[in-house]
Amino acid sequence: MGSPISVLILENDSSSVFDIVREMKANGLSPLYKVVESFGSFESTVLEEDWDAILCSTRKPFHLEISLYLKFLNEKKIDIPVILISDQEDFQKNLQYMKSGVNDIIDRTTLLRLAEVLERERRELVYRKEKNTTETFLFQSLKEIQLQKFALDQANIVSITDANGIITYVNEAFANATGFPVTELLGQNHRILKCQNKTKEEWEKIWESIHKGKVWRGEILNTKKDGSSFWVDTTIVPFIGTDGSVFQYIAIHHDITDRKLAEEQLTHDAFYDNLTGLPNRALYLARIEQKIFSYNIKNDGYPILFCINIDNFKRINHSLGNEAGDKILIIFSQRLKQFSDKEAVITRLGADNFSILLNHLLSIEEAVDYAYRLLEYIGDPIPIGGYEIYLTASCGISGFGLGGKEADVLLRNAEIAMFHAKSQKVGLVSVFNQAMQERIHFQLEIQNDLKKALNQNEISVFYQPILDLKTNKIGHWEALVRWRHPQRGMVSPAEFIPLAEDSGLIVPITRFVLEQSANVIEEVQIKNGKPISIAVNLSPQVFFDQNIFHWIVDLHKQRNIPYTSLQVEITESLAMKNLSETVPILSNLIDIGVKVALDDFGTGFSSLSYLEKLPLSILKIDKSFLNNVHVGSKESFLLISIINMAHDLGYSVVAEGVEELEQLELLKSYQCDEIQGYWLSKPIPFPEIIPFLDQFYQKENQ
Ligand code: C2E
Ligand code: CA
Ligand code: CA
Repeated sequence: MGSPISVLILENDSSSVFDIVREMKANGLSPLYKVVESFGSFESTVLEEDWDAILCSTRKPFHLEISLYLKFLNEKKIDIPVILISDQEDFQKNLQYMKSGVNDIIDRTTLLRLAEVLERERRELVYRKEKNTTETFLFQSLKEIQLQKFALDQANIVSITDANGIITYVNEAFANATGFPVTELLGQNHRILKCQNKTKEEWEKIWESIHKGKVWRGEILNTKKDGSSFWVDTTIVPFIGTDGSVFQYIAIHHDITDRKLAEEQLTHDAFYDNLTGLPNRALYLARIEQKIFSYNIKNDGYPILFCINIDNFKRINHSLGNEAGDKILIIFSQRLKQFSDKEAVITRLGADNFSILLNHLLSIEEAVDYAYRLLEYIGDPIPIGGYEIYLTASCGISGFGLGGKEADVLLRNAEIAMFHAKSQKVGLVSVFNQAMQERIHFQLEIQNDLKKALNQNEISVFYQPILDLKTNKIGHWEALVRWRHPQRGMVSPAEFIPLAEDSGLIVPITRFVLEQSANVIEEVQIKNGKPISIAVNLSPQVFFDQNIFHWIVDLHKQRNIPYTSLQVEITESLAMKNLSETVPILSNLIDIGVKVALDDFGTGFSSLSYLEKLPLSILKIDKSFLNNVHVGSKESFLLISIINMAHDLGYSVVAEGVEELEQLELLKSYQCDEIQGYWLSKPIPFPEIIPFLDQFYQKENQ
């Protein structure tokens, strides 16, 4: 088999065709050919295949059409060598043919050189085609490189340095990013940018690898001409010459300052409190762990934790607004910082909950002393919106080994101690002990159970009568909530009311007590015609945050409950908290006929002077006042003066917890208006009220 070649033969003389084919074969070619006899079929046939050559006769009629064939090929950009098979020896004519684009002319009679010319033309055709594609490719590549450079310059900061690291090129973006004019940069090296996040040794290592021809990529914190910083994501590409050594480096930098700042912010946010800038719980725990670790190893620096909570912060926030609340938290945190030494780690655990970690105190006794001094320090008035806010806080302390040795346990224990301090009294310091933990455990359980108690009908209301000493009639009753726990039996309200207040359950509970009291009023007074009024105890949360006034108005409107049949009892501490808010609420209630009693008078640290500022109807003297009262005692004088003063202010006085007849007689002689206590009756359930009243008045009438 010869070398295959595809040839289009324009010839109408079959013997000539035969000769041509034979000549080709004789010279080792294996032709694949087609014969065309006219111009019309040339056009379609030439497009049919990838011809290696066109062999064209110069005889009639082809001699006239040769120029047409060439024109057609030219127009269609078809590159096929055209070889004429000619009878002529006419040199001029042949020259003309060659000039018009014919590749060669072969003498028909001998067909000498035919194969050779065909081979040559084919080679040249292949070469032309290859050259063509290479050129196109080169052209395209060049265009792409230009585009890429343009894009690179647009989106990146580009610099080129020579083998010695001397800057030989920078683009506009580079100058803009660094603040150095291009002229100041050329001839310098990159040290002009004073990289801040890599040491000299680190750079040496990096360059070592780049010198070996490796591309390096990393993030660099550079310095601008004006001294400010900017982050770049940098790729350094070494260019290796034919001798194998690096002759230049291109550094492509991408400004990532915004991203870096956002990242820094995120990391900061993850570990620091937004408002005060103090470390948050997560970071704090890590710090405690560090201190525990070094204490375990070196046995010095005893870790002690303080948990500090602002007293009544919710109320402050509520009455002054969140903005003022935030300001107070910031000032509070600053005071903690000012008071503590540099070694102290201070955190805001959340809301108004702060903690301090110290490891320079030698004992828990020292810690208690420290805590009291701290509480005193933060007690300085804070000026906010024209007011002076006096903050008090409570503090819990835990130390390494006191019920725990892990960071989270120590922190939890300090929090438990803080809650304990708060439950005792505001402004108090408590040191963690095991009993506290058990107590908290118990309280958590109770609190959980309490959530279900209302729905499961475990909550009920008892009513305790109050005797009017002047008329000897049951003046009114106090509604006292009861909880029968399925396992624990009766749980005292003194126990669960504080928990209900903490969890917000006090709101539905108070509503329940109010509704039940309305039921009693309906039954006893409206249906049975026996006048009754009932006092309901109000916690601060119900008094301030819920619209107690509207609850009572609704009861009146919807169920016809007379305002005079309802009373409310508030505590001293509630009344004292914020007079500007308390007074209007109380006035509104009194205006519609609801009596207001001040409960547990004498248990707080109140002075008598604030009493006159409060719109009140009744003063309830706490039963602790009766403990040591006998004729001529100090307590009896105090009692007399309280009763007199209350009368002067127009309040009537109820003495609570009267258990003995002597107490009653004494109180009567001191002009006390009413008494409440076991002497008269314990609190009783609803169905016993009417029988009690009947029995009481029956006795009276006997
Ligand atoms: P309080 O308002 O001072 O209620 C009087 C408490 O003294 C009642 O205790 C009552 O049973 C008790 N008591 C009455 N007479 C005597 C007596 O002669 N001797 C003794 N030792 N105690 C007497 P209770 O029912 O356990 O209530 C305790 C506290 O729970 C109440 O004190 C009140 O502060 C709170 N509480 C009860 N019910 C409610 C309620 O519905 N809402 C709110 N916010 N607090 C309530
Ligand atoms: Ca009460
Ligand atoms: Ca009371």
